[in-house]
Amino acid sequence: MGKTSEKKEAVKENRRIIKRTLKFILRVAWKERPSLFFVYAILFVAMLIQKAQYVILPKFLIDELMLILGGAPASEHLYTVALYVALICGSNLLANIMSNVANQWRSVLEEWFNEYFETLLAEHTMKMDFEYTEDPAALDQLNRAKEGISWYSGGVVGILNSVYDIIGHITVLLGVSTIIAITCPLLLPVQFIGLLLISIFNAKNNKIEIESYSELAKINRVFGYYLFQLSDFSYGKEIRLYDSADMMLKKAGTETDKLTGVWKKVSNRKRTNAWGMDLINAARDGISYFYIGLLALLKRITIGDFSMCVTSASELYQGMYGVIRSLQEISKRCVYAHQFLKLLDYPEALSKGERKVTGETHTIEFSHVSFKYPRSEQYVLKDINLKISSGEHLSVVGLNGAGKTTFIKLLCRLYDVTEGEILIDGVNIKDYSEEEYRRLFAVVFQDFQLFAFSLRDNIAFDDAANEEEINHVLELAGFYEDAKKLPKGLDTMLYKSFDEQGTELSGGQQQKTAIARALYRNAPIVILDEPTAALDPVAEYDIYRHFDCLVGNKTAIYISHRLSSCKFCDRIAVFAENTIKEYGTHEELVNKKDGIYAELFAAQAQYYIEAT
Ligand code: ADP
Repeated sequence: MGKTSEKKEAVKENRRIIKRTLKFILRVAWKERPSLFFVYAILFVAMLIQKAQYVILPKFLIDELMLILGGAPASEHLYTVALYVALICGSNLLANIMSNVANQWRSVLEEWFNEYFETLLAEHTMKMDFEYTEDPAALDQLNRAKEGISWYSGGVVGILNSVYDIIGHITVLLGVSTIIAITCPLLLPVQFIGLLLISIFNAKNNKIEIESYSELAKINRVFGYYLFQLSDFSYGKEIRLYDSADMMLKKAGTETDKLTGVWKKVSNRKRTNAWGMDLINAARDGISYFYIGLLALLKRITIGDFSMCVTSASELYQGMYGVIRSLQEISKRCVYAHQFLKLLDYPEALSKGERKVTGETHTIEFSHVSFKYPRSEQYVLKDINLKISSGEHLSVVGLNGAGKTTFIKLLCRLYDVTEGEILIDGVNIKDYSEEEYRRLFAVVFQDFQLFAFSLRDNIAFDDAANEEEINHVLELAGFYEDAKKLPKGLDTMLYKSFDEQGTELSGGQQQKTAIARALYRNAPIVILDEPTAALDPVAEYDIYRHFDCLVGNKTAIYISHRLSSCKFCDRIAVFAENTIKEYGTHEELVNKKDGIYAELFAAQAQYYIEAT
């Protein structure tokens, strides 16, 4: 009883998925490229002409020829024979031209829809909550959506092809059933039983394919990572210098073996079904020919009718099989494509507020904030309490892994706090609209990324960027003079991916570009996570010296390992043992007896003295 109701539920759910996906696909097609429906209309008319030419016209031609062979005067029938031949050739030509044109048009639209979904997916990936970029379940769903909406389902065109097929097959079925019912009625049950048996086997095969799909999606993602992402040139140095290509290829090989294993299992399971289908087809053909042949021998039908019955029987079978196969195909394709809708339904990791950010000055407050990363049991930050007033320059220091970057990520709301709250101007940051909130920050992360765009686009991300402003921030970041010398100035492409004259900036220049990008954003809160790590001592000193000028009277948070830089900041927060252990001005902390900061500062000062 339980199993039956479970099955019923599954069928109901399947129907819901199909209905929802079909609605979505039809809506997208209608909204984005309605011409696709016109293409199907042309294909439909071409198909009707072709079927008439194939099933009906030969009967008249054969009967006419049989009359001549039977002794009727050729001169009386030759004109009609020529007319039928011309009709057959002409309609065939017309149908072919129509379907060729429509097919080409459909291919172009198919490509267009592929690109459309690729773009939609890319947009979704870029905008999805950051937390999901580290969540294997979300990444698997993204991959399932990608594969489901493209090659597994064939996308809009793939699914609409199946809908079109059903309509086409039903129309042909109605036509040939009428012919058979009039000429050789017993063929109907023979074809019907044959078809029933074939569809059972076909349904079994579809089930096997769907079952293997989830398994394949996961393996494909890992495989894709090794082969495609790692052939990305940005990994080029590590791969060559650490001789890791062999290891990557070996790992990709293991995934290929897994893929082959799954495919092998699928084809083994499908083989028995294929044999069953071959046997049924042979029996059905044998019985049909015997029956129609008998009718012709008994002169119950003409030779023309015999030919029409044979093709009608084949069309009837193909039509019925086509309807069932297309129904199963639609169901399968919709289940795949539904993965895309499931991705769109994916719940947001962070709740989104509506509140607008108002005013020019902003205070930041961490109140009893504790945090552990998703799917992790360990607290990375524990009971953080801190206030940063507007315009204050805060330096954040601490050993590696102390939680400094995590503190910044929480402030930028890439993750939500596990306990406590972060307040901006006294309001919990969860209450602000995400877009408004993000505008408060200009951040240079330690692992910042530059894109293979022009220098201008890397800084401004805006086609209508203000050149004077770009030059100004480049000057502040200490990169203006060098940037001027680049082959095409601001329009020089970074990296050589798309332009032979593209440039590979040095580590320091990259960092200056990232700083310029943050300054160009002109946000009220500037966050620099070790912004000088790749700079030479002169450039580093310049950044410190001009720090006030760089960030002006904006609020600034500055993570640094070099404690001498802390002197430029109003306050210092020392992170250790998952919390803020010391907090105060440089003078206060450096004089604190047995203080962490004092100890670190002394150690670094000694290093500088020894080094000079
Ligand atoms: P810091 O910036 O002070 O060097 P981080 O904030 O980067 O330290 O890291 C603090 C701790 O959090 C480290 O133990 C690190 O391994 C862990 N951590 C950082 N990022 C993640 C993450 N995405 N998932 C799980 N743990 C992380």
